[in-house]
Amino acid sequence: MTTNAWGEAVGLLLEHDEIALACHVNPDGDALGSMLAMGIALRGLGKRVVASWGSEPFEVPTAYAGLPGLDLLVPAREFPAAPALLVTFDTGSADRLGSLADRVDVAQHVLVVDHHISNTRFGSVNLIDRDAAATAVVVVELLDLMSVELTAEIAAPVYTGLVTDTGSFKYAATTPSVHALAARLLETGIRHDVISRQIWDTTSFGYVKLLGLVCARAVLETDQVGGLGLVWTAIGVEDLDRYSLGLADVEGVIDVVRAAREAEVAVVVKTDPEDGLLKVSTRSKGQIDVGAVCVSLGGGGHRFAAGFTSDASLPDTMARLRAALAAAPHLAD
Ligand code: AMP
Ligand code: MN
Ligand code: MN
Repeated sequence: MTTNAWGEAVGLLLEHDEIALACHVNPDGDALGSMLAMGIALRGLGKRVVASWGSEPFEVPTAYAGLPGLDLLVPAREFPAAPALLVTFDTGSADRLGSLADRVDVAQHVLVVDHHISNTRFGSVNLIDRDAAATAVVVVELLDLMSVELTAEIAAPVYTGLVTDTGSFKYAATTPSVHALAARLLETGIRHDVISRQIWDTTSFGYVKLLGLVCARAVLETDQVGGLGLVWTAIGVEDLDRYSLGLADVEGVIDVVRAAREAEVAVVVKTDPEDGLLKVSTRSKGQIDVGAVCVSLGGGGHRFAAGFTSDASLPDTMARLRAALAAAPHLAD
């Protein structure tokens, strides 16, 4: 990333009075948090800001329902048709904007703020820090350059992005500077305990039941991934319906499944009730680059956490994935 890109990004943000923000479909804590943090900051600078994402349902996942800045959100159908400045967050490629992807072609300027190694650089200005633990980290660097004060209102969504993308400061991307940033955020007085409880430790009873069901049907295939092992399960529309859950509610299932020590790679295949497509989540423990595997299957992500979308059946999707995993090189520790 060139110094120039940072200067151009700050220039774009400061010189526009109306700014349209978008994040990836089915937003997670980093997508939503980084977008809201920037939105609140820009509004504080007197700009007119809207923020959105291009997937249904247009509902803030309950884990993030307490965040400040939700009043910036507009449904995709109310998003500007041809924004002068479009800023995207945590979005590795234009198609990850879903129904808002067409805005990339018509916006005068597109600023891409991201940390995905697989980012396709679809913006006119691309701020992609592949070493950043979260897109929210890149947002703070931008706000510092813009001399925006880090208030508690901005810190809460930033913390949300940081804590979700580092798995509560557990993943390898958790560097000393991540902890330094967390300290800075806590100094603003945010209720990090409330934020974390809402994200990690609050579910419906239906989710507890669904977890039991999908864990009971998990399959361990020790001979897969070149003998390193694969554990996987699937969540169908009927499972979601039975317990009145949406896709956003079952994001945490992969974190339970991937704990199985017998498997290097863990997979959860979810059927999206909106489009019927399979949303495949993959995780590895460090010996397989699932990011590269998912890119080869039309998706993207990070080295050890990635995903792809499939329009094939569950057996065919798993067969393609097994073949790609078998061909993936084993990384040295
Ligand atoms: P998930 O398994 O949905 O938590 O996603 C893990 C990582 O993979 C995140 O960084 C996502 O942005 C990325 N990812 C998931 N699905 C896709 C997809 N269909 N295309 C590109 N990247 C994806
Ligand atoms: Mn994300
Ligand atoms: Mn992210």
